[in-house]
Amino acid sequence: MQKFLINKEALNADKAVIHGQDAKHICKVLRLKPQDAISMTDGHGTDFTGCIDQVSPELVQISILSEKKSLTESNLDLTLCTAMLKHNKMDEIIKQITQLGVTRWIPFYCKRSIPLSGQNREKKQIERWQTIARESLKQCRRSSLVEIMPPMDFQQVLVFSKGCSHRFAFWEASDRPLSGPVPGEDNSAVVLIGPEGGFEEEEIRRAAESGFMSYSLGPRILRAETAAVCACGLIQYLLGDMGGC
Ligand code: SAH
Repeated sequence: MQKFLINKEALNADKAVIHGQDAKHICKVLRLKPQDAISMTDGHGTDFTGCIDQVSPELVQISILSEKKSLTESNLDLTLCTAMLKHNKMDEIIKQITQLGVTRWIPFYCKRSIPLSGQNREKKQIERWQTIARESLKQCRRSSLVEIMPPMDFQQVLVFSKGCSHRFAFWEASDRPLSGPVPGEDNSAVVLIGPEGGFEEEEIRRAAESGFMSYSLGPRILRAETAAVCACGLIQYLLGDMGGC
């Protein structure tokens, strides 16, 4: 069954309410009725089951029956940093990495990234990305929203990454294959993916100085969005919840 995202404010002891498009969807499309069961999440790792009390296209009122910590979240705190690409590619990345259990996403500017001009433009983009993340969460039944960070410059990304125990920079000129690193005490990882034009060598050198190892994704050149998805899947396999190790 589809999982609905409810805000903390819409959650009150043993009651919850759903408004807006979701209420309309529940009423008109799913045609749920009083007494029907419904699954929900707060977007911060907790799931709820509930029973519908009242339905209208504007408002659904629910009694919460049970609450549990989600089983869909990885034990790995995984941050993906991608150089700024064209809009539709960024949208696609958010959809895919939500499915792959990524914890947070940092878009960044570097020498060859695509610029996003104007402060307002950035604010609008972030809102749009957050909407995509919410929709993607419902589809894949996750319980934690991907945290979307405001765009950073490359130096800020390097500073942020100091807090992560495993640091992977994917670089097409690297000949180091990815193979199972031993998880550190703190199971966190950060992944760097460059722009379509690639990283400049100088950027890879600075990343290395900040504790990144550069890795290859094989002999073919992948599109940045393919590389991002592929890298997150492989790392979730090595250190998170997509493999048997
Ligand atoms: N312009 C470059 C390719 C850039 S691909 C060229 O034509 O050579 C965009 C990003 O995807 C790269 O910066 C890198 O982070 C990642 N990437 C693509 N293919 C890769 C590979 N085979 N190994 C490692 N990283 C790769």
